[in-house]
Amino acid sequence: MILDFKEIPKANTGNGDQDTFELFARDFLEILGYEIIQQPDRGADGKKDLIVQESRHGISGITNIKWLVSCKHHAHSGKSVSDGDEPNILDRISVHECDGFLGFYSTLPATSLGKNFDGLKKKTNIDSFDRERIEKIMLESPEGIRLASRYFPVSFEKYKIENPKPAKIFSDDNSIHCEYCNDDLLKDKKGIFVTMRRMSDPEAKEYKKEPYIKAYYSCKGKCDAILKGRYMQDEMLIDEWTDITDFLSPTTYIKKLMAWMNSFQKEKEEMSDEAFDKLKYLFLHSYPYISREQTTEEKEKVKFYLQNGLMDWL
Ligand SMILES: [Zn+2]
Repeated sequence: MILDFKEIPKANTGNGDQDTFELFARDFLEILGYEIIQQPDRGADGKKDLIVQESRHGISGITNIKWLVSCKHHAHSGKSVSDGDEPNILDRISVHECDGFLGFYSTLPATSLGKNFDGLKKKTNIDSFDRERIEKIMLESPEGIRLASRYFPVSFEKYKIENPKPAKIFSDDNSIHCEYCNDDLLKDKKGIFVTMRRMSDPEAKEYKKEPYIKAYYSCKGKCDAILKGRYMQDEMLIDEWTDITDFLSPTTYIKKLMAWMNSFQKEKEEMSDEAFDKLKYLFLHSYPYISREQTTEEKEKVKFYLQNGLMDWL
């Protein structure tokens, strides 16, 4: 489980506070398109249950189903919801003039309750959300994600760090395409950046590296071989390549940036405008991926670099 349902406080113990888990159920069901008919409340006139309405669009028109929602927040004890926790389901539906019963649970329904539900399904509408179904739905949509960050601030923040998404920095579609097959190399994370230059003259008095004259983005393997052939049509060039994924992690990104800057200033490397534009494009378009906190795996990598004296590139 990614979301820790214990972050939602235990059900109200009589101090008059609103039951947070019921409010969460209300907000969650609202995102799914249920209309809130009766708010959960613990007013002076006693406890009011949450009632929601679902509108099903069919061939013969719209069918409205009023659901009585039963919230059970057992996450703190970890106990499943048993049939004893949900007595007299049919009576409760009829007292509240509803058309169905919807269980909303922060743990799992026990086998006994599942069997009970199966039996009742022949007589009425029965549905239930348990922690797994709730979590899956929440992480699938932007509205769900917003809700997760509100009700599960600690566990959701942890999840976000370990599953980084590129930051929205540029308004246009952020991609780097393989110049042969057009696959998005930022999405597939299998691409390479290839730079090419002429061979140095072995006879020259002073050894000097030739400028980079060509550069391209490519998938590894077949696409690379084809592109190499294309770029070397007129003359023999030597090529160097680097994984594009190295540009997508904060530490290796800065390492690449420093290496290129050092190569221009200290080693007096030169580059054609065409190749330089592609290098700039690569740094620009991988930037949204690295303007974030590091994942645990990335932090471990840096620790390894530090312990082994491999951080001398700055
Ligand atoms: Zn390709």
